Amino acid sequence: MINHIKTILFFLLAVSLFSCENPTVEKEPVEIIPEYEPTMEYGLNLDSFIVHKNIIKPNEFLANILLKHHVPYSEIDRLAKESVRVFDVRKIASGKNYTILCKKDSIEKAEYFIYEPNAIDYIIYDMCDSLIITKGKREVITKINSASGTIKSSLYQTLDDANVSPVLAIEMADVFAWTIDFYRIQKGDWFKVVYEEKFVEGKSIGIGKVLASNFNHYNKDFFACRFIQDSIPDYFDAEANSLRRAFLKSPLKFGRLTSGFTMRRFHPVQKRNKPHLGTDYAAPTGTPIMATGDGLVIASAYSKYNGNYVKIKHNSTYTTQYLHMSKRFAKVGQHVSQSDIIGKVGSTGLATGPHVCYRFWKNGSQTNHLKEDFPPSEPVKPKHLKRFKTKLKEYKSQVDQIKLKTI
Ligand SMILES: [Zn+2]
Repeated sequence: MINHIKTILFFLLAVSLFSCENPTVEKEPVEIIPEYEPTMEYGLNLDSFIVHKNIIKPNEFLANILLKHHVPYSEIDRLAKESVRVFDVRKIASGKNYTILCKKDSIEKAEYFIYEPNAIDYIIYDMCDSLIITKGKREVITKINSASGTIKSSLYQTLDDANVSPVLAIEMADVFAWTIDFYRIQKGDWFKVVYEEKFVEGKSIGIGKVLASNFNHYNKDFFACRFIQDSIPDYFDAEANSLRRAFLKSPLKFGRLTSGFTMRRFHPVQKRNKPHLGTDYAAPTGTPIMATGDGLVIASAYSKYNGNYVKIKHNSTYTTQYLHMSKRFAKVGQHVSQSDIIGKVGSTGLATGPHVCYRFWKNGSQTNHLKEDFPPSEPVKPKHLKRFKTKLKEYKSQVDQIKLKTI
């Protein structure tokens, strides 16, 4: 964007300069000598050195590299020690880029060693006189890009076929995690997406944020628009509702929390200390148990310890489970909505009295759902609505302009 503005400014300036000239005055032809453009990188003029650009090889250490370029061992040792405050040289890893700038003389001793831990940062070891170690950053330019596709198999595969980084699939799946079940997307579903892409020196270094997207799933449009209110970014639909859904705090409308999530508790039946990776809510047998969020039933079974239980996968991040039911009302493969009754309270399995043991997984590990800090799922606040509508209109027109790829 900044570059774009620069181009326009430059153009305007050129036009204004041109129009100031008096067209009737004839000018003598002037020989144009191309101006010398030094090769600048890391803030250094590379033309003054012999430049070696290379990649750290497996089992290659700083000492191996610098010794080859006539840096004495004592100097390397000092460099490694002094570097600690800026960068620990033990972190130099194979596969990373480095540059050595050597003096243009008969010895060709290294004067600079520049290590690049990633595409953005670099560390300069200036060994010209006294040792100076500094950190630098390359300029990251964020461009707005767009992509589209029609689903043939998975979203990931569709993006890959369209030569778009499949990382975008992960970002999109996150945006729509609560509205679209990506395990159920079908052939013919399609999407258009406007997103950020980050560049360093003209090379893409990765996907940034998804800004807006229209996902057509089973012939229904799902629109997502990124919007920041009170410094918190979130995704909203065209009606200014959050795309996120909050979980119900408890699977029972009325129930009493009798045993919380703990890594150590005395088990009333087994009579020994063991972690309790769930939250128990006691209620009379037969009390309805609700799904705490929309999702897919991935287990509905009976086991010795769990008794009758149901397990629901909500999206790629969250899964919940409900134990000790007297009755189960959910079948594997069934889609449930938040508050749907999936069973009734009982004391089947290893239980002393009627209760539901509610278990919660985040990214595959069991957590205490009461301690989870869920982002807000409220709609856009009235005071931000005007700004939201402007943003939405802008994004909608950008998304509409994307031509749908049907490859
Ligand atoms: Zn329990």
